[in-house]
Amino acid sequence: MAHTADKPVVGVDLGGTKVLAGVVDREYKVLATAKRPTKGETGVDAVVERIAKTVRDAVREAGMDFSDIAGVCSAAPGALNPEDGIVRLAPNIEGWEDIPFAKLLSDQLSGTPVFIENDANLGALGELTLGAAQGVKNMVGIFVGTGIGGGIVLDGKIWRGSHMTAGEIGHVVVLAEGPVCGCGNRGCLESVASRTAIERDIRLGLRTGRESMVPELLKQAGRERMTSGILAQAYEARDPLVYEVITRAQHYLGIFIGSTINYIDPDMIVVGGGVAEALGEAYVEPVRAVAYQYAMNRKDARNVKIVLAKLEDHAALLGAAVYARQRLARRS
Ligand SMILES: [Zn+2]
Repeated sequence: MAHTADKPVVGVDLGGTKVLAGVVDREYKVLATAKRPTKGETGVDAVVERIAKTVRDAVREAGMDFSDIAGVCSAAPGALNPEDGIVRLAPNIEGWEDIPFAKLLSDQLSGTPVFIENDANLGALGELTLGAAQGVKNMVGIFVGTGIGGGIVLDGKIWRGSHMTAGEIGHVVVLAEGPVCGCGNRGCLESVASRTAIERDIRLGLRTGRESMVPELLKQAGRERMTSGILAQAYEARDPLVYEVITRAQHYLGIFIGSTINYIDPDMIVVGGGVAEALGEAYVEPVRAVAYQYAMNRKDARNVKIVLAKLEDHAALLGAAVYARQRLARRS
């Protein structure tokens, strides 16, 4: 294990609620994982410490010593600069503004090289390298969960834009004067098609007296939040309220994808994230139908493949491992 290129790397998926770290070998096999809650309210230093601990847990779980690791890459939700390692703004983690995240984490990990990249960009890179979009030149990855993230790949490379913030597809407006979004604007894709938007609309329906199996499913699961799994159960059972709300969410996502076909003309659109994974192909099919309707060139629209992501929970983690290897190769 002398050569850096042969050593495993650690990929980290940092989200608003949990930190997931995985030791990934040369063949992109995940050898071991560890996770912890993010606890953003404890402050930046405490969160970085928790990430470092989670990384060390995963390495120990893999039966390795930390000196066996070539480098670490962490995904982070929000606007960041992968070159200087600074997170400009991660709205889902309290207080994360202008944080030298790569340096802070490296300091906690005995100076090991640490790289950072946006989580949706890494999800797209993971799908491109190891998942549904292998060998594809131009593609857009769309990840539907609590929010909606995106990664754009042009000519085989992540398109970061001129200010490192490209791919924020959750904040493309698809319904002018629509619901208020977390970003303060109205009618963003995220405000009409994310799991959060779906939950809001189901609750609205329940308040106006609509019948649904959701309250019973929540009770059975002992949960308050409508997880993607609970939504999938109700959708599959054709619960009328849930089916109606999700169909509307799919419609807006379809409109967005149709527009994306019109202005990017990719080879493929990959749809992933908690909601898409839980509902599976039944989620993608109606989205696909709407998207092709909104494509300007309807005759050839189906040349653009719209497929379900393959890497599921490990998309960002594996993308992080791919990116760590790319960056390490650049240094040697
Ligand atoms: Zn927005």
